[in-house]
Amino acid sequence: MEPQRSPLSEVKGNIELKTPLITGSSRLPLPGSRLKRGPEQMENALEPEKKRIRGLGPSTKIVSSRPRAAPLSTMSQTQGQVAAQKVPKKVGARSSTSVATVLKNQKPAPAVPAQKPGTSAAPPVAGGKKPGKRPAWDLKGQLCDMTAELKRSRERTQTLSQENQQLQDQLREAQQQAEALGTERRTLEEELARVRTQAEQGQRELGSLSSRVLELEERLGTQEGLVQELQKEQLELQEERRGLATRLEEQERRLEASEAALSSSQAEVASLRQEAAAQAALLAERGDRLHGLEMERRRLHNQLQELKGNIRVFCRVRPVLPGEPTPPPGFLSFPSGPGGPSDLPTRLSLSRSDDRRGTLSGAPAPTTRHDFSFDRVFPPASGQDEVFEEISMLVQSALDGYPVCIFAYGQTGSGKTFTMEGGPGGDPQLEGLIPRALRHLFSVAQELSGQGWTYSFVASYVEIYNETVRDLLATGTRKGQAGECEIRRAGPGSEELTVTNARYVSVSCEKEVEALLHLAHQNRAVARTAQNERSSRSHSVFQLQILGEHPSRGLQCGAPLSLVDLAGSERLDPSLAFGPGERERLRETQAINSSLSTLGLVIMALSNKESHVPYRNSKLTYLLQNSLGGSAKMLMFVNISPLEENASESLNSLRFASKVNQCVIGTAQANKK
Ligand code: ADP
Ligand code: MG
Repeated sequence: MEPQRSPLSEVKGNIELKTPLITGSSRLPLPGSRLKRGPEQMENALEPEKKRIRGLGPSTKIVSSRPRAAPLSTMSQTQGQVAAQKVPKKVGARSSTSVATVLKNQKPAPAVPAQKPGTSAAPPVAGGKKPGKRPAWDLKGQLCDMTAELKRSRERTQTLSQENQQLQDQLREAQQQAEALGTERRTLEEELARVRTQAEQGQRELGSLSSRVLELEERLGTQEGLVQELQKEQLELQEERRGLATRLEEQERRLEASEAALSSSQAEVASLRQEAAAQAALLAERGDRLHGLEMERRRLHNQLQELKGNIRVFCRVRPVLPGEPTPPPGFLSFPSGPGGPSDLPTRLSLSRSDDRRGTLSGAPAPTTRHDFSFDRVFPPASGQDEVFEEISMLVQSALDGYPVCIFAYGQTGSGKTFTMEGGPGGDPQLEGLIPRALRHLFSVAQELSGQGWTYSFVASYVEIYNETVRDLLATGTRKGQAGECEIRRAGPGSEELTVTNARYVSVSCEKEVEALLHLAHQNRAVARTAQNERSSRSHSVFQLQILGEHPSRGLQCGAPLSLVDLAGSERLDPSLAFGPGERERLRETQAINSSLSTLGLVIMALSNKESHVPYRNSKLTYLLQNSLGGSAKMLMFVNISPLEENASESLNSLRFASKVNQCVIGTAQANKK
């Protein structure tokens, strides 16, 4: 930057520039004399030389005493004015206009009165004449002139000093102003910086405001969409409201109509109520009569069963299976009863040739016929449904509250399991007594529920092998824990018997029974692999605890229904029991035979009304104690193989069954409470 020059230095400079013009000549140049030089000036050209010769006297003194202040008289007014005007111009150009203004406003320094150009500054010559060149001898005159000039010079000096003073004042003032202006400038710069900061901040604010505006515009757009949607919804709601209003009106009309109908209906209801009360009384009366009839039916049914005998024996002969030898004709025959072929078969004859006698005599072997008569005989062609029909009456007895026990007796392979559980493959035609009996129970219980009876059924299924009891319904970890089950009284003083550790499963539909039979079958299969053909050497006892209640009449009836698949009744020839395995088998067979003979003995004792019935002699009879007594109904199926090779065992079975059939066990009584 160009250094600021103070106005004073400017003024000084101006003055310095002009000074030589003044100091260069001892004589003050006259206005106009600079332009024109007269001949006298030429003559006076020697004067300076003189002054120089005179030495460095007065002229040097003048210069030193008034160093640079040029006598104003040498400066024309025009020059002074120009100088005065030049200062502000230069200041103004270099500094600010305010300084220029200040200087312009300055009063012009009191100048020497203007002289007309061409007029001399010399004092008027006495006599009013223009002083001409004084002769050399006129020293006085010259002195006078000199004095006059000196005086004028002094005046000018004074004037210039004043002017200088003024200029210095002005300079100070200008400096002060410059300072003030500098301060003002800094203030302004600061303000400018602040304003810039504010402007930047304003810009930022503007930016954020713009984005806010954009955002608001967007929101406004969304709001507008929402408003439109709401308006649409409003329209829809109004429409719906109109629809509802119409419907309401319609409903009101309907209500009025309904009210009218109601009042007429109420009258009708009142009359119907009366009628209903009469009907209810009638119904109650009929219910009583029905109940009386039901009880009568039970009594008569029981009488019929008793007439048939509380212990009955049915003989069933299974068909010859594919691959089995055809028995000789007449080996087994089914003679008709006294009523002819229309009578249900009750007789069976087994004809066996006496080989020994035939061989000895050489004649054809004579045949021995063994005739048996039972309550019913089922020839090989009899279906499962036919067999069940005959026992369904007994199942009814169980519902009526009489203990029922159905056995299947016979040698292994004679069809006991087929009779009790059914044939293979889940064919409904081949279903055995257990599933059929349960289905029958469920359906009859359902019918009786209409008369106020409710029934519940709890099933258990155990196996008795070698005098140990095993649960066939065991699941999970309890599987295969044979021998842990014990037969115990249900409670102290209780007649009821239960098997400890055995599952008692509540059943109410066929599916559940199916699942139980399947489980028992699986459990038996597991045991079979472990213990060779165990199933044929064990008794399977399926028991169903039936409990019937008639809450409104406070009646209860309960009885067990037992369906027993006995172990194979075949006898082992003791003479053959020599091998290590055979001994074990003999022991098993003896156990089986012992339990089967105990069963026979129990039946005999009951029949003979003996005081002691040996129930406790076997697990089987002990478990069935409550199903084999005076109040119980017993049915024994004797299953017979159709094969000639089994003739001996068949005869044994038929003989055992005949003995049982001859038994008559006392009058059964329903377990009513
Ligand atoms: P058990 O239980 O007395 O040892 P099963 O019931 O196992 O005898 O019967 C032996 C075989 O004879 C089985 O294959 C069985 O399906 C069949 N069977 C038994 N009785 C009949 C029958 N009435 N009709 C058809 N097949 C039968
Ligand atoms: Mg069997």
